[in-house]
Amino acid sequence: MRISMISEHASPLAALGGVDAGGQNVHVAALSGALARRGHRVTVYTRRDAPDLPTRVRVQPGLEVVHVDAGPAAYVPKDDLLPFMGALADAIAEDWAEAAPDVVHAHFWMSGVAALDAARRGPAGSGVPVVQTFHALGTVKRRHQGADDTSPPERRFLEPSLGRAADRIIATCSDEAFELKAMGIDTRTVSIAPCGVDLELFSSEGPADAKRRAHRILSVGRLVPRKGVDLVIRSLPHLKDLGFADVELLIVGGGGTGGRDPEARRLVELARSLGVAGQVELRGQVPRDAMPGIFRSADAVACTPWYEPFGIVPLEAMACGIPVVAAAVGGLTDSVVDRGTGLHVPPRNPEAIAGALAALLASPRLRTKLGRAGERRARARYSWNRVAEETEKAYRLAIAGMAGAARLEPMEGAAL
Ligand code: UDP
Repeated sequence: MRISMISEHASPLAALGGVDAGGQNVHVAALSGALARRGHRVTVYTRRDAPDLPTRVRVQPGLEVVHVDAGPAAYVPKDDLLPFMGALADAIAEDWAEAAPDVVHAHFWMSGVAALDAARRGPAGSGVPVVQTFHALGTVKRRHQGADDTSPPERRFLEPSLGRAADRIIATCSDEAFELKAMGIDTRTVSIAPCGVDLELFSSEGPADAKRRAHRILSVGRLVPRKGVDLVIRSLPHLKDLGFADVELLIVGGGGTGGRDPEARRLVELARSLGVAGQVELRGQVPRDAMPGIFRSADAVACTPWYEPFGIVPLEAMACGIPVVAAAVGGLTDSVVDRGTGLHVPPRNPEAIAGALAALLASPRLRTKLGRAGERRARARYSWNRVAEETEKAYRLAIAGMAGAARLEPMEGAAL
């Protein structure tokens, strides 16, 4: 198949751990790579966010990334990108003029706006089936972030109408499928395909970083409030009360200490005010290749977001054989098995986080058991090759649906 991917803000080539660079970048890069290895020809369109980026980058056989001029050639927060989606669609439609793809797969709602626009215009574009992965839903974001949600107001009506117009939607977890249904989307158009994990990079085999204290808790991700890193910091005094004082919390992602990252400053302040600053290290952004050694150095990985559309970090932890303390929200309820590969805790509850961490720190046997089961689960279910196979099925359904729709259209001149 010839596949076009659109990922307006999340380039597969970007460094990870910034405010807007995380799971979507990993997802688009790894899924595209896996599809190309399966023999497809994949082109990823993303916005040029720096002036010196080459227009076309060949990443591996069958996979290229195209940097499209749409808005300033500089970082623009993802919530401010809607005005540039028309320009993105123009450039994509132009690129399709010679040969349209068999399917276009949009990531995040704004890419979907550009995908529908490009797919429904002009003779080359018309008829390209659109597959949509939302990665996050505005309804869920609003529910949790309220007035702090910086999404443009148009998201309220554009996202559901995109959901109805797309030929197929890929939800990354069952919880998202329920949310889509609640938005009025026909679930017959919804496939579920999870995110995956790079099993060559992330495994329990290999060196582990040194830790500074008896126990290490790890938190990894973009440093934004909804990831709930503050809750893990708040759990440290409770953990002390439970007898675990010689514990360090390593936080990976974001700007690190000393920079201008407001969330990093807030977390440092919080740790100080709770008297646990000596236990907390903010490492800042860490390159991909250094991540496995960091995961392997942890006794437990804490993933305690307010909500989570999928969450690749718990899969990476599991693949490295490390148990996960996971808030029982969104995709985490699919990926982390409570008492199987980690422990579930209610959302936004530092005491419960401390209780779960204490149970793990108290028992090396439990840690090993859950860690090994996590590694088996990651290997059995979450290889990118398997995710690509599921994604292909969704593409085929979209293409077949489109062909079916074409057959229903009256032939030119036919009497109705
Ligand atoms: N990540 C990284 N370096 C960092 C911070 C994050 O490589 O400094 C990676 C992390 O390992 C994971 C991704 O960024 O692969 C975050 O994905 P996740 O789905 O957990 O969160 P999202 O960013 O989608 O909210």
